Amino acid sequence: MSQPEQPALSQARALVAGNSDRFASNVFARLFTLKPELRELFPAELGGLRQGFVDVLDHVLEAIAAPDGHGELVEFLAQLGRDHRKYGVVSDHYWLMYDALMSEFQFAFGPRRWTPEMEETVGQAMLLTTGVMRGAAESAAEPAQWQARVVQKFSITRERAVVRLVATGPNPGYAAGQYLETQIPQWPRTWRNLSPAIPANANGELEFHVRAVPGGRVSRTIVSDTAVGDIWTFAQRHGTMHLDPQRPGLLIAGGSGLSPLRALLIDRAQYGEPGPVHLFYGAVHPGELYELGVLQQLAATNPWLKVTAVVENAEDPWWLTGGSDPRQWGAEVLYGRVGEVAAQYADWRGRQVLLSGPPPMVFHTALRLRAAGVNPDDIQHDPTS
Ligand SMILES: Cc1cc2nc3c(=O)[nH]c(=O)nc-3n(C[C@H](O)[C@H](O)[C@H](O)COP(=O)(O)OP(=O)(O)OC[C@H]3O[C@@H](n4cnc5c(N)ncnc54)[C@H](O)[C@@H]3O)c2cc1C
Repeated sequence: MSQPEQPALSQARALVAGNSDRFASNVFARLFTLKPELRELFPAELGGLRQGFVDVLDHVLEAIAAPDGHGELVEFLAQLGRDHRKYGVVSDHYWLMYDALMSEFQFAFGPRRWTPEMEETVGQAMLLTTGVMRGAAESAAEPAQWQARVVQKFSITRERAVVRLVATGPNPGYAAGQYLETQIPQWPRTWRNLSPAIPANANGELEFHVRAVPGGRVSRTIVSDTAVGDIWTFAQRHGTMHLDPQRPGLLIAGGSGLSPLRALLIDRAQYGEPGPVHLFYGAVHPGELYELGVLQQLAATNPWLKVTAVVENAEDPWWLTGGSDPRQWGAEVLYGRVGEVAAQYADWRGRQVLLSGPPPMVFHTALRLRAAGVNPDDIQHDPTS
């Protein structure tokens, strides 16, 4: 299609995609020129935010032009508006963002292509985007942020720590299996998703299991520097992983990915009318299966639960200290990659399947299960980034 015939929204989308990082940089520069104080609301390093911004813009321009699916778009933008409250974004800022976006579109299109028709179409799209986000933020029922104090922290290995906190005031809680947007005091305005490893309770107690990823800013700081008394801030809760009481379940966890599944199992043990659940808990080395004792105890008192541990190596390397031998708990221990071992273990067709772990583990496990005949619609996991 030649350019004049190409619909305006497709042209706008192509324009952004053509040099997305520059487009995003310019929009933020225009925004911070309109109101310099806004710069303080965002993290020092804007790279991740810019990428997220152009991803959203691309999705919006594509979805508005589509003949259907507008309900999903509105819900997507509404969630985005609720999420942005954690940065301290308020209603007036959306008008400034609208102005910044329109100025940059006008600049990037240039006088020849920025026709009245283009201005009208792009203007309506940006008005919808900022308007839905603003409206959802204004009408959100839950607080933008809440806080909890660290009351205990201990290291499992040099890469992993458990952090326990108690909420400092009223809080919206979360459903077992959900994850929370989290900010630690050492990294102001930098948010990471963390999955509580226990269900919410009336005392506002929280527990997180954190693995320091290589080069990771927040995770490494938590494992090395977090201390009793630190105040953590939480914003929105997300995620739809749940255990269907009507169906048998298959849960497959890799490493710290166990947390949301652990919360679901504890919740099920407390309140559920349980169907059978088989949990495969995988790690690279036996000493990394630090939760196996807890899981075996849970299985011992809840006959609906079966736990199989899976390790890639039979022995721990010399540098892995502090871990315990999983065989002492009497659990079934198998060898290989957790997804492969689980997929081959039985016929899982008809089961509700929940996956949680590092992105490659989730990806490959889903592939293996599908190859083994499991319906893709039965497989659920959180977003992997
Ligand atoms: C839904 C969800 C729930 C999560 N729950 C937990 C949890 O309960 N416990 C927990 O420890 N983490 C959890 N995470 C991961 C967490 O949100 C961070 O992404 C992770 O801790 C890295 O943040 P960072 O600031 O340390 O690394 P960054 O500074 O953001 O990244 C530094 C480097 O590490 C790489 N990196 C980022 N994430 C990973 C990863 N997962 N594995 C390997 N390399 C990575 C980046 O590509 C980059 O090169 C969860 C993530 C999601 C999406």
